[in-house]
Amino acid sequence: GGGSGIRRTRTRSTCCYCGVGCGVVIEAEHGPAGSRIVGVEGDPDHPANFGRLCSKGHRLAETARSDAGRALQPELRHQRHEARRAVDWGIALDTVAHRLSTIIAEHGRDSVGFYLSGQLLTEDYYVFNKLAKGLVGTANVDTNSRLCMSSAVSAYKLALGADGPPTCYEDLELAKTVLFAGSNAAHAHPVLFRRLEAARECDPSVRWIVVDPRRTDTAAMADLHLAVQPGTDVALFNGMLHHLIWEDRIDRSFIATHTAGFDALKDVLRDYAPRTAAEICGIPVADLVEAAEWFGRSPASLSLYCMGLNQSVHGTDKNLALIHLHLATGQIGRPGAGPFSLTGQPNAMGGREVGGLATMLAAHRDITNDGDRAELERLWGLPSGRLPSKPGLPAVAMFDALRDGRLKAVWIACTNPVHSLPDNARVRDALARAEFVVVQDAFVDTDTVPFADVLLPAASWGEKDGTVTNSERRISRVRAAVPPPGQARTDLWIACEVARRMEARLGVAGQPALFNLAGPAAVYDEHVKLTVGRDLDIGGLDHARLDADGPQQWPFPAGATTGASRRYGDGRFETADGRARFHPTPWRPPAEPTNAQYPLRLLTGRLRDQWHGMSRTGRLPELFAHSPRPALRMCPADAARRGLSGGMLVQVESRRGRLVLPLELSDEVSSGTVFAAMHWSGQHLSSGGINVVCQPAVDARSQQPELKHAAVRVQPASFG
Ligand code: SF4
Repeated sequence: GGGSGIRRTRTRSTCCYCGVGCGVVIEAEHGPAGSRIVGVEGDPDHPANFGRLCSKGHRLAETARSDAGRALQPELRHQRHEARRAVDWGIALDTVAHRLSTIIAEHGRDSVGFYLSGQLLTEDYYVFNKLAKGLVGTANVDTNSRLCMSSAVSAYKLALGADGPPTCYEDLELAKTVLFAGSNAAHAHPVLFRRLEAARECDPSVRWIVVDPRRTDTAAMADLHLAVQPGTDVALFNGMLHHLIWEDRIDRSFIATHTAGFDALKDVLRDYAPRTAAEICGIPVADLVEAAEWFGRSPASLSLYCMGLNQSVHGTDKNLALIHLHLATGQIGRPGAGPFSLTGQPNAMGGREVGGLATMLAAHRDITNDGDRAELERLWGLPSGRLPSKPGLPAVAMFDALRDGRLKAVWIACTNPVHSLPDNARVRDALARAEFVVVQDAFVDTDTVPFADVLLPAASWGEKDGTVTNSERRISRVRAAVPPPGQARTDLWIACEVARRMEARLGVAGQPALFNLAGPAAVYDEHVKLTVGRDLDIGGLDHARLDADGPQQWPFPAGATTGASRRYGDGRFETADGRARFHPTPWRPPAEPTNAQYPLRLLTGRLRDQWHGMSRTGRLPELFAHSPRPALRMCPADAARRGLSGGMLVQVESRRGRLVLPLELSDEVSSGTVFAAMHWSGQHLSSGGINVVCQPAVDARSQQPELKHAAVRVQPASFG
């Protein structure tokens, strides 16, 4: 810079896309005309990526620099038919606080809901949860992470006694058998995938098994690809365990000392002889047996799993059945071994830590546990009985409640439910019927913003400060490199400003102020205090420590010099008696069967270079080079049978809706199955994205919707 008056800064932060949580260095220029991000590179010191970045991470500077579509000022409308008008922050904040408080006074504390995002920072999440559960007294606070990993949470809690994976990224390099289940890591977690590739190059004895109905890029690189029929994972894992028991390849001493419930599971497994299981899955029995042998004989078996298991009405069972394989063979708590759920979003894990779901309280406390509630009321200085004692409305149910009037108002922060929830028409209808909708977002052109009565312009990545936790429980700092554009403010500032105003209206006389929180470091300190003595104890951490020593894994109690890379190494689990639990997991088919009318199974998923609804990645032409347009993939034989050819426009239709897409012939999907990416939304397609046809059925335990399976039919598009 020198004489030009331009100053350059380099700021360490964390990538805003996936749950790998890569460290980055943001280069910014600051001059008389303002500040801008000019470059982003991988942080060579960050233990998630050691300087590597994937195609999305590489382009962060260009996407962050683009002002296109940014929300720049608060907007408000008083009537639904009016257009929103720009207002100043004072009016916008007062309006939100006033309308929410009035609705609560009229209809009770459960008449409002908060719908958050795994893109929010831990500190943001913390304040929203304190506002909802602590001040308003409602558990109606849920998040798009419900769509991503809640089945993994349910299964960890049921099997191991606590949420969070027992594993760490180092295990990627130490595993000898890697089982990918419902994970296209090559596209969805590219930097982890590169670490795995490097490890296999160094040690050719490493074997990869990929369980996926699609021949994804991950599956194409497998030593064994089990192309199971969609929704049959439980039968597969049960069959594998049946074989291992039969061959006596289980760890009887581990089972006897560290687990409970094995006999009840064994009763269920009797029905899953390899031949029966392989038949259900539609794979050769020899492949199932081989997978079981590789898993059981390996000195270290690691399972990596993701949306293919989680986004299912039987998501919890799928996770449990896989965890059973690890418990029964003692493949857990040791280097290179264990069940390892990969989080989709950058801070799905941090949201869980602060209780960012309708089913939990801060620091992994249970909402239905009297002791947990009393303890949190004491720590927050709340009167007894203030915290809700029942779970609130999880994502899909929250919008159903808006639709039928049980919920009057919703505050949506940093997410686009009209695009991401299944059965989009229902979500649109819900928002159209709501009495009051607040949308807080960095972008104005999402499918959800048109429903906003108040639009609160939020800072985006590179403009805000706090922490995120990645898939291996590692907490990294996120830092602002430039100020937000226009009138945009950080999510934390917005949440605190509304919270203080609502506290003035709803607070209890004489109660200490709940939201005297001076910025993200102070919010973090408060969160840390709540974790002390819990399984995720981070009593030894604060922002200053993370700044000085870099990213750290939890637990990290006071006095620790390092976090725990692995959990349960001593065979003691987080259950009352320290034993892990087996649960009977019979296989059940997906919620929506195919029939003569809807004979095909629709799978949905991600593409390599895009992220979610493409608010960021969709603004960069380079990121469309790999997959330039939306498409429906079908195998050539199924297309020929229907008289369809590649490039033709086809109509995909379910019981809920339809959309028109170009057909792409691909051997990636097998006969009877079609695939569409979930990124394109109503911004790009007049009908909305693929979720218009997906179905809202949920897993009874995790409340996660079955986004990965719907019965559809496909025919030539008709425009008549
Ligand atoms: Fe970002 Fe994930 Fe790519 Fe890393 S792997 S650069 S966290 S998108």
